[in-house]
Amino acid sequence: MTSFADITTIGVGGHIARFLEPTTRVGVIEAVEEADEKGLPLCVIGGGSNMLVSDEPFEGVVVRDARRRITVPDEAAPVEGNDRTVHVNAEAGANWDDFVAFTVGLGLEGVEGLSGIPGTVGASVVQNIGAYGQEVATSVESVEVWDRETKTTRDLAPADLAFGYRSSALKSSMYVAPATPAERFFPTPRYVVLSVTFALRHSATGTVGFGQLAKALGVEVGDRMATTAIRDAVLAVRASKGMLEDPTRYVETAMIGTKREENVIADLKRLARIEEERAAAPKAPAGHAGLPAADHNRHSCGSFFMNPILPADQAATLPEDAPRFPAELPDGTPGVKTSAAWLIDHAGFHKGFALDGGDASSARASLSTLHTLALTNRGDASSDDLVALAKAVQAGVRERFGVALVPEPVCVGIDLRP
Ligand SMILES: Cc1cc2nc3c(=O)[nH]c(=O)nc-3n(C[C@H](O)[C@H](O)[C@H](O)COP(=O)(O)OP(=O)(O)OC[C@H]3O[C@@H](n4cnc5c(N)ncnc54)[C@H](O)[C@@H]3O)c2cc1C
Repeated sequence: MTSFADITTIGVGGHIARFLEPTTRVGVIEAVEEADEKGLPLCVIGGGSNMLVSDEPFEGVVVRDARRRITVPDEAAPVEGNDRTVHVNAEAGANWDDFVAFTVGLGLEGVEGLSGIPGTVGASVVQNIGAYGQEVATSVESVEVWDRETKTTRDLAPADLAFGYRSSALKSSMYVAPATPAERFFPTPRYVVLSVTFALRHSATGTVGFGQLAKALGVEVGDRMATTAIRDAVLAVRASKGMLEDPTRYVETAMIGTKREENVIADLKRLARIEEERAAAPKAPAGHAGLPAADHNRHSCGSFFMNPILPADQAATLPEDAPRFPAELPDGTPGVKTSAAWLIDHAGFHKGFALDGGDASSARASLSTLHTLALTNRGDASSDDLVALAKAVQAGVRERFGVALVPEPVCVGIDLRP
């Protein structure tokens, strides 16, 4: 029997009563529709990289779309004027980094900065994934969905999708307030993504959009570089922060076939190189359960808390050196975005922090030793261990700075309302 622990990157979560992997478009719709008709809890899962699920059994249906085709519908279309747009369509179950590798390999610009983000194409538009100065929103042409309310398929345009910072109309459809599930639809949106069409640009170079990346490449922000070089640099920076998933998960029975084999092999080789370098470096901290500590750093949901966007008067109460960036509040008025990692660190939760005086080498759950914002499973954590850690961090930041941290992952059977 499959459990959420087998199919999520953080590796916790209970047994699933019914796990389906439809291989056709109609099969996906039927699986969703059948669960909805019967009033069963439904979770459409992708790579399970943005989910923290309770260890209690899940008495419902989990659907994982097994369609993973990526096609270029207008490959042979004549170029009109200077238009270098190339449309690429990907089925929802396609692995996100397979998609990025494919488009970069084809000489297309638009998503190279999003290299190495775990998960699927279907989920990429749910939370509008972003990293290193790029967001998926800027490349999305349309999203084909199954609407669970009207029971029809629809093509949603960017205007319908209401993309924002780690948000979209899809994500909003399952919440009534931050981290507060709506009565219907949660933990999967009203709109189940069937495929996404992207508008990319025929160009072998892309723009370096982020300071850390520019530093790694030895260029300035705004400079143009080969997209292949940007992809390599992003993967290297991500690896140094433990922000790549553990590629060994794709050789486990429950995950096999969900990512292209050649890309899994490339990831495994990259990991082996990192391990060699680490072995050569003195005093690498040892991990729990016989694995190097850095491996456990990859057993996370990525950034666990969103960067808070605060009203200007609240932001003014933060210490002078707290990061501040202009941003929009949910009601569209100007606000200030600060850094969740900075708040957590300055509230006393440093890299590797664990409860009860433990640390990353001994505890079952801890903050990553490479990234303050990632909660990690050190080998045998329960969902309760991770929830206790998350709540301690939320309480500490609230007490120190008066800021409520909202979790980024979808929490199933777990209440982490700020
Ligand atoms: C190491 C690591 C690094 C990360 N780095 C980043 C980062 O840099 N930037 C970033 O934005 N995110 C990051 N993440 C978070 C995560 O990778 C993204 O949120 C990703 O898009 C989740 O994809 P998934 O397929 O794994 O979604 P899942 O975790 O499987 O699902 C997440 C949500 O999407 C819904 N969903 C899944 N498929 C569909 C579908 N077809 N239709 C409708 N709803 C669907 C699920 O029901 C659920 O509500 C990181 C995670 C990890 C583990």
